[in-house]
Amino acid sequence: MSKTFSIGGIHPHDNKISVNAAIENFPVMERAFISMSQHLGAPAEPLVAKGDKVKTGQLIAKASGFISANVHSSVSGTVNSIEMLPDLAGNLVQHIVINVEGDEWMEEIDRSPEIKREITHSPQEIIAKIAECGIVGLGGAAFPTHIKLSPPPGKKAEFLLVNGAECEPYLTSDYRIMLENTEEILIGVKLMMSALGVKRAYLGIEENKPKAIKKMNEIASKGYQEIKIVSLKKRYPQGGEKQLIDAITGRQVPSMGLPIDVGVVVQNVGTALAVYEAVQKNKPLFEGVVTVTGKCMPEQRNFRMRVGTTFESMIFAVGGFPKDAEKLVSGGPMMGKAVSRIEAASVKSTSALLLLTEEETKRGEEANCIRCAKCVDACPMGLEPYLLNRLSRANRIEDLEANMVHDCIECGSCLYVCPADIPLLDTIRLSKAKVLKIIRSRPKK
Ligand code: SF4
Ligand code: SF4
Repeated sequence: MSKTFSIGGIHPHDNKISVNAAIENFPVMERAFISMSQHLGAPAEPLVAKGDKVKTGQLIAKASGFISANVHSSVSGTVNSIEMLPDLAGNLVQHIVINVEGDEWMEEIDRSPEIKREITHSPQEIIAKIAECGIVGLGGAAFPTHIKLSPPPGKKAEFLLVNGAECEPYLTSDYRIMLENTEEILIGVKLMMSALGVKRAYLGIEENKPKAIKKMNEIASKGYQEIKIVSLKKRYPQGGEKQLIDAITGRQVPSMGLPIDVGVVVQNVGTALAVYEAVQKNKPLFEGVVTVTGKCMPEQRNFRMRVGTTFESMIFAVGGFPKDAEKLVSGGPMMGKAVSRIEAASVKSTSALLLLTEEETKRGEEANCIRCAKCVDACPMGLEPYLLNRLSRANRIEDLEANMVHDCIECGSCLYVCPADIPLLDTIRLSKAKVLKIIRSRPKK
């Protein structure tokens, strides 16, 4: 029987219209715009200068600080500039801009199609390789993977959970890799299990992806029995870390706690594939699968795309900008980020470019709360969004903290169900940031 999390959740239409589009290689662009801030933590520090020649896969920026990640060139060519450029939201971020010349890869990257099954690295070597190759979590947060695989002193992982839920509407990049790179993902899971020293892993997939469940089970039964494939009910936000842990293990991560507090580490299937490529194939993280989709688009595609590709070039690759497109989103419609500049470029964690029409983005005029409690029923964190909204608007910070605004995972389920079209997520997100700032500034006990 399929599993699911215990409270809240919604069932938005999944709109997975790109589901049958096999992964294709996206053409390498003429110029790559590679951000130094494509992971959680400190920006990477450039190691190259204007005029330097670089190869595809070459280290071009070094992690700085404890939470940071290395950045590699996604193309070969000449460094055109190192400059501050706006990201998709318009924030100025340091980029290395490279004029592309051919596509010459670093010699040590194994580009053969052969699947390398034998694991010869020690746990420490696996973690070092993951750090060296700049692997970050590809489920959205882009947290450096080597840190997540190194629990702090006193904490021990019992299980690894792998997120193949892909519960956000429209997204199909994880689904396609589960079908097309099944065994590589399972080897990546084994590598992470070895790094963590755990004997069991669970890979959760929503039941609306029966082909992926079948294929994963088939391959897992031939030499990967320590990885259990778990069928999950279709329910948003099933892929949230806390929801996935609840669904698969029944454990509850405490408020302000981390999965490791309940003996669990969560990784995404995309990250598992990147780990396989890093450790077994010497390939740094400089490309990934991106779904380009939308009902107004003439074509639906899944591309293997180099990091640093502009959103503009993605749109033109699928037939140009549709007349009725109103909004561009990087990611899914529930938790994705609005793209305010089409000249901005993709980063390691970019999973989709979604184009929505005015009809699809239209919000009704805000009305008064009718106290229907639909937002309370939908909240997967057990919060009272109508109350948090009221407290946020009155800026009652102490009351917001007492009502656990900091536990909000910004899933948007409350906003989705509210019949009064109250912008619950917008107000709650702002007050959550204020409360978290206060909590983090307090001296640690
Ligand atoms: S956005 Fe926050 S408050 Fe709203 S349903 Fe999600 S977790 Fe609850
Ligand atoms: S769903 Fe909207 S109208 Fe209903 S209680 Fe919540 S905030 Fe009020």
